[in-house]
Amino acid sequence: MRTKELRNIGISAHIDSGKTTLTERILFYAGRIHRMNEVRGSGAGATMDHHPIEKDKGITIAAAATQVAWGEARVNIIDTPGHVDFTVEVERSLRVLDGAILVLCSVGGVQSQSMTVDRQMRRYRVPRIAFINKMDRTGADAAGVLEQLRSKLGLHAAFAQLPIGSGAEFEGVVDVVSMQAIFNDGERGEEVRVAAVPEAYRSAAEAARTALVEAVADEDDAIVEAVLEGRPVEAETLARAMRSAVQGHRFVPVFVGSAVKNTGVQPLLDAVVRYLPSPMDAEPQVAASTDSDRQVELLPVADSPLVAMAFKLTEDEHGSLTYVRVYQGTLRKGAEVVNTRTGRRAKVGRLVRMHADEKSDIDSAEAGDIVALIGFPAASGDTLVARDMESVALESIQAPAPVISLAVSAADAAASDKVSKARARFAREDPTFRVSSDPESGQTLISGKGELHLEVYVDKKRREYGAEDREGQPRVRYREAIRRRAAFDYLLKKQTGGPGQFARVVGYVEAASESDRSEFVDETKSGVIPAHYIPACESGARDAMSDGPLAGYPVAGVRVVLTDGEAHS
Ligand code: GDP
Ligand code: MG
Repeated sequence: MRTKELRNIGISAHIDSGKTTLTERILFYAGRIHRMNEVRGSGAGATMDHHPIEKDKGITIAAAATQVAWGEARVNIIDTPGHVDFTVEVERSLRVLDGAILVLCSVGGVQSQSMTVDRQMRRYRVPRIAFINKMDRTGADAAGVLEQLRSKLGLHAAFAQLPIGSGAEFEGVVDVVSMQAIFNDGERGEEVRVAAVPEAYRSAAEAARTALVEAVADEDDAIVEAVLEGRPVEAETLARAMRSAVQGHRFVPVFVGSAVKNTGVQPLLDAVVRYLPSPMDAEPQVAASTDSDRQVELLPVADSPLVAMAFKLTEDEHGSLTYVRVYQGTLRKGAEVVNTRTGRRAKVGRLVRMHADEKSDIDSAEAGDIVALIGFPAASGDTLVARDMESVALESIQAPAPVISLAVSAADAAASDKVSKARARFAREDPTFRVSSDPESGQTLISGKGELHLEVYVDKKRREYGAEDREGQPRVRYREAIRRRAAFDYLLKKQTGGPGQFARVVGYVEAASESDRSEFVDETKSGVIPAHYIPACESGARDAMSDGPLAGYPVAGVRVVLTDGEAHS
């Protein structure tokens, strides 16, 4: 296996941007499926796959990861659903991705979900390329969308392709790197025809190339030299600079096309292989060591000890399917693997590669790859390792806190057993779905990311377990937040018998960059507060956040900065 030729990518988008349609084309052109299905219905009212689970899963990808071959390369496509209520699915996928395609609608541009997805990609440091889809729509405005990528998402972006025509006249694309036009011929766009750039697009293409060269010039001295000497920059040199900029998170190249009209999809796949990193080029994964403070850097090589992460668990009538990404070493059928969270050892029974909706058995999977285990005891987020690596744990996936709860009680004793079985399984599969009991009322509470999220589970429970239970009113788990920066200067001085107490803390609080996380920053200088008291300052601040001043809800997204203080013995 050539890890260098492997790509692990995700396709993310605002709902209705054409993610499912695009994925379908990719699978078709890569020979993975032999018939192209269309998403029925149109626009926001797409009624066919109305159920959010089905809608997000799309029509072909029944699996969370599917592999396609493209030229020499093999591309694992990891499904990332779009609805906010299911963001944990997106987060889990992002955790194991090495790169992503951000799909945008040529008319809708950067929409709310594009921003959420972008923020998550930043958090997991996923390099990306952008694809402006639906260039065939009336009002398609690629330049406008590029501008939004810059202004709304703050991306350093430039066209790597220009559309030839737009709306009903959309015909093909100009590849700005090679300065060639690319058209799709044949009934389903399966024939790619490369031609000279049409005369009418020459000057626009040249301007776009200059902009592209400027955008990545800093990456490569060869470019700077060529520009200074007035020589044209070679396509290969430009592509190399783009690759390094994309992989260094400094640049996002923008591609255009229309999935529905079968235009521009193959060049997009070429771009995935060309610009997005292989597991070897991706940023090295670090794992924590449980028996020291040491961080262990994992090497994507096949002959080192195994370290893998379970990132998704699904269950069907054939048993459980655990998706894993191998970060280091080789995962082998029959080998004994340790789950570092539970400390349990288990043999790898069946190991499979997922292809669209079918599974094929394999004997081993090497570092970088994404495969699935059948019937293996693991929850999502678990680290699976070889025996001598037991002290290593990968940073688990961040599960967003639930925002809404629902009190539920089983209709009768018979239902009670089924209901708790179902709930336990859902909680295992989805870390944002939680089950707890309310200490005040003694009721069982299920909590999740939104009303829709909980509804889906109530519905699943009914359908798959035939279990009914009674539901109370949903309750929102409010959070309080800081609206603007405020300074604090607090002096504690107590002298009531015994040893006196003295402390002073000075600083400010403000909104953190991420609304769901809080941070504590120590900016004090020259030991005005002795270092061993700083953790106490932090835990004091965090304690205060659990009980907000408005209504007693937890305070979220606060940045507490300690700038000064005083202490004495
Ligand atoms: P998803 O929600 O991102 O998966 O989007 P879908 O693939 O389900 O597409 C949403 C709607 O947009 C469907 O009606 C598609 O037929 C339509 N659509 C997808 N790609 C294109 C495109 O390139 N051009 C046009 N005009 N419509 C498209
Ligand atoms: Mg879809």
